[in-house]
Amino acid sequence: MVRRSPAPTTAQSWPKVSLLPGGFLTLPEHFFCDDQHDKDVPSMSFLVQHPTGHNIVFDLGLRKIWQDYSPEIKSHITKRLPIEKSPDVSDCLRFGGLDSSRIDTVILSHVHYDHVGTPADFTKACFIVGHGTRQLLQHGMRYHSAAKFEKDLLPSDRIIELPAPPRKLADDEIEAGEDYPATRGLSSHIEGSNPSWKQFRTLKNAIDLFGDGSIYVIDSPGHIIGHLNLLVRVAQSQWVYLAGDACHSPRILSGEAGMATWNENGMEVCIHVDKEMAMSTLRDIQSLRENGLDSGAVEVVLAHDPDWFRANQAAIWPSHFL
Ligand SMILES: [Zn+2]
Repeated sequence: MVRRSPAPTTAQSWPKVSLLPGGFLTLPEHFFCDDQHDKDVPSMSFLVQHPTGHNIVFDLGLRKIWQDYSPEIKSHITKRLPIEKSPDVSDCLRFGGLDSSRIDTVILSHVHYDHVGTPADFTKACFIVGHGTRQLLQHGMRYHSAAKFEKDLLPSDRIIELPAPPRKLADDEIEAGEDYPATRGLSSHIEGSNPSWKQFRTLKNAIDLFGDGSIYVIDSPGHIIGHLNLLVRVAQSQWVYLAGDACHSPRILSGEAGMATWNENGMEVCIHVDKEMAMSTLRDIQSLRENGLDSGAVEVVLAHDPDWFRANQAAIWPSHFL
C-alpha cells in the first residue's frame, strides 16, 4: 500500500504534469476528420506527480520493441508507417532522472496498441483501467476482435478495473458485465481514495483519485470500452485535461471539422465504437475548455495533437507545465 500524506494546502503543492513523448505514428486523417490528409502524429503520455509522492503515468504510447506486439497488431501497424517507437515512455522518464520502477500508478486511457506501450517496464505499478477492459483483453467483444488486443498485456495481480459508471451503458459495456471481480481496490492502493463515480461540476462521472480535488479520473465513453480521461489541477486557477482519444484532431475539438464516418462493407463506420456517445463526450470537453472550471482555465490535450506537441516542448519531463 502507498500511504497518502495530508492534502495540498498551498498554491505550490498542486500536482505537476510533464509531457512524455511516446513515439510517433502516421494516421490517415480521413478516419478522424470529415476532411483529409495523413499526418505524422505523436502518441503522447504524461507523468503526473502528486504532492504526496505518487508518480502516475497516464498512457504508455507506442511499444519500442514492436516485434513484441501480437501478429495482428504488427500487421495493422504496417498501415501506420512511417512510425517512430524510440525513445519510448520508459526512456523519456529515465532521461529526466526517473526510473520506470518508481512509477506506482499507470492509468490507461484505453488499450489500443498506441497507448499501451510496454507495461512490463513498470515493475511496481498498479494499472488503472476503465470498466470492461479485462473482458476486452481476454475475449475481445462486440465490435472488437480479440486479435487486436493482448490477453497478457497487464499483470493480473496489479490491475485495478474501475466500476461501471452510473449512466446508461452501451451494448459492449453491458456485455462486459461483472465477470471479473476486482483483484485489487483503488482504496487499498491510494489510501483515502474512494473508487465511486460522482458528478464533478459539469462532468457527469468522475473519481477524485486522492480525495483532495487535485486529480480526477473522468468517464469519457464513446471511443472504445473503458475509455478514461484525466483532469489535473496544476495551480489554483489552471487545469490540464488529458483527453486521450476522445477526439483525434484539434480541428474537431475546435469545431472546425466533424467526426468522420466512412463506408465499410455497406456499413457506416466511425473510428469511435459509439459515435453518438463520443460526440456527447466531446461536447462536455468543449464546454470545459470554453467555460473553464472553478474560475480556472482548462488546457485540453489530445493524445495525438501534433500542434500541441510542438508548442509544448518546454513541458517535457523533467520540466512540467507552469
Ligand atoms: Zn490513439
